[in-house]
Amino acid sequence: MAEEKRQFQAEVGKLLDIVVHSLYSNKEIFLREMISNASDSCDRLRYAAITEPDLLDGGSEFRIRLIPDKDAGTLTIVDNGQGMSHDELIANLGTIAKSGTSEFLSRLTGDAKKDVTLIGQFGVGFYSAFMVAEEVTVISRKAGEAKGWKWVSDGKGEFTVSPADEAARGAAITLKLRDGEKEFLDAFRLKSIVKRYSDHIAIPVTLKDGDTDEETVNSANALWTRPKSEITPEQYREFYHHVAHAFDEPWSTLHYKAEGAIEYTGLLFIPSSKPLDIFHPDRKQHVKLYVKRVFITDDCEELLPPYLRFVRGVVDSQDLPLNVSREMLQHNPVLSKIRTGLVKRILGELKKKSEDADGGYDAFWTAFGPVLKEGIYEDFERKTDILDLCRFRSTQGDGLTTLADYVARMKDGQDAIYTITGDDLEQLKKSPQLEGFRAKGVEVLLLTDPIDEFWVSAVPSYAEKPFRSVAAAGADLSAVKAPEGAEDSKEDEAPADQLTTLIEAVKLALGERVKDVRASERLTESAVCLVAAEGEMSMHLEKMLRAHNQAPGERARILEINPRHALIKGLAARVKAGGTDGDVEDAAFLLLDQARIIEGEPPADANAFARRMVSVMEKGLLG
Ligand code: ADP
Repeated sequence: MAEEKRQFQAEVGKLLDIVVHSLYSNKEIFLREMISNASDSCDRLRYAAITEPDLLDGGSEFRIRLIPDKDAGTLTIVDNGQGMSHDELIANLGTIAKSGTSEFLSRLTGDAKKDVTLIGQFGVGFYSAFMVAEEVTVISRKAGEAKGWKWVSDGKGEFTVSPADEAARGAAITLKLRDGEKEFLDAFRLKSIVKRYSDHIAIPVTLKDGDTDEETVNSANALWTRPKSEITPEQYREFYHHVAHAFDEPWSTLHYKAEGAIEYTGLLFIPSSKPLDIFHPDRKQHVKLYVKRVFITDDCEELLPPYLRFVRGVVDSQDLPLNVSREMLQHNPVLSKIRTGLVKRILGELKKKSEDADGGYDAFWTAFGPVLKEGIYEDFERKTDILDLCRFRSTQGDGLTTLADYVARMKDGQDAIYTITGDDLEQLKKSPQLEGFRAKGVEVLLLTDPIDEFWVSAVPSYAEKPFRSVAAAGADLSAVKAPEGAEDSKEDEAPADQLTTLIEAVKLALGERVKDVRASERLTESAVCLVAAEGEMSMHLEKMLRAHNQAPGERARILEINPRHALIKGLAARVKAGGTDGDVEDAAFLLLDQARIIEGEPPADANAFARRMVSVMEKGLLG
């Protein structure tokens, strides 16, 4: 077969452009990426060979070799891992399969400095080779296949693939270094880079410098098997970068050996910044499973529940058999015990961190709270532990509060934990629903994560206090005493008989458009608001579902009117029992539309709204 020419996927093209033109100061990390990929590839082959030993024809000793060639100006990284087939070369090195890629690209600004920081977090993997190389050649033969392939590109939009019959198993990646990058041929420099970033790689990384003997330059044992006291924070960090394919600082590092009925070692990390794909619908967990130091899979759902999918790292089991298959991993009792242990450790670590005022827990919470909260209703047994880890914005103060602190601040006579849900914190703070709560000094939790809608309706209570939405009809504050001097007085209200007549007239005018009309306890300043009937879906949830085309048609709500408001009092004074009054009817519609607008919804009939508004304004302004 002759040479094939192919284009990089558009996204890769963009990425390469930035990689090549960025003034990235930390170019040496390309080597870490190459070694990391080589090591992953060896791990995968080692596992595949447990069931298919023939795959190891050509050698079972894994090794990653660095071969600088000063005459040719090239650095070659060779591994004897699983290699890539023709199609895999094209797919893996010509496209980006990573989830979060489009999100990442959409955040690029064109400002080189900002973009480099972003790339640092995203990780460009293989493409980082083009930071130092003007041309990259990959010669690879996939384990089990007879023929190899050669992939060549200058990173400018195209690559070629052609047969390479003599290729050895694995991959040999040759970087033709740019003129300014010849330092990466220097043995001393290469050794120090490997020590710095790749010492933890469990496979030997060797260096062949000219005619000297090949020497191993890393420690070549699995980092998690070493005693904690012998591991430096830098080594932990580099290992985290390798396993997580992430490039931030780990916020928390948890390294322990579980002994007893079940034996395993866990080396777990919680990132400090939010990965772009954390809300990917697959909700996959990201801890890798090893058995007796052999990599098994990075796709083991049973290892951790989805609500801990922000955790990275490895778990190495002593009890599972090496030839454990995918099917065996399902409903595996050993694995389920490991999972229980991991969840306990992680939640324990979070608790510890949350109690440490300088531990940066608030930043963790801001990044991962929305994920952890899924556990409130998915992990029944740990519900309370998770609720204890939760932090909330509230109407009291600007910081975050715990539920325990909220409960401690509850007013005499207050029998529920009040919540309000919405998209936007500032908007929520202004909601008329909160007026009565504010007047009585009752704190309300302001919930703005989509997930909040689901757990508040699924979890009955915390510390025996039920959660209740302020926007639901049942929110009753009558038992809570108002602060001195701010008591409600019936004298401020429209007289009861007038009010009843007004309510009847409004009901008559609005008909099916509302479920009910009531005098409100919760309003102090606004004239009207809408609330959901007891037991019905909240308006915010309905809106969220509608945005995803999942909701039934809009439901009629309860319109509450404020009997202490001047407008309502005025209307009540003029409305006549049993009679019809065009003005009152217009007012009823305008009030309903106003309540809708405050909820972030359009008036039911924009034309009618405008017509009524003009008519009322004309009467008001022009007499
Ligand atoms: P990532 O490693 O994050 O998936 P990379 O850009 O580093 O992204 O690599 C892309 C893919 O190319 C890898 O997922 C892997 O499938 C393949 N690959 C890269 N280097 C090698 C290698 N040395 N041997 C086998 N496959 C490789």
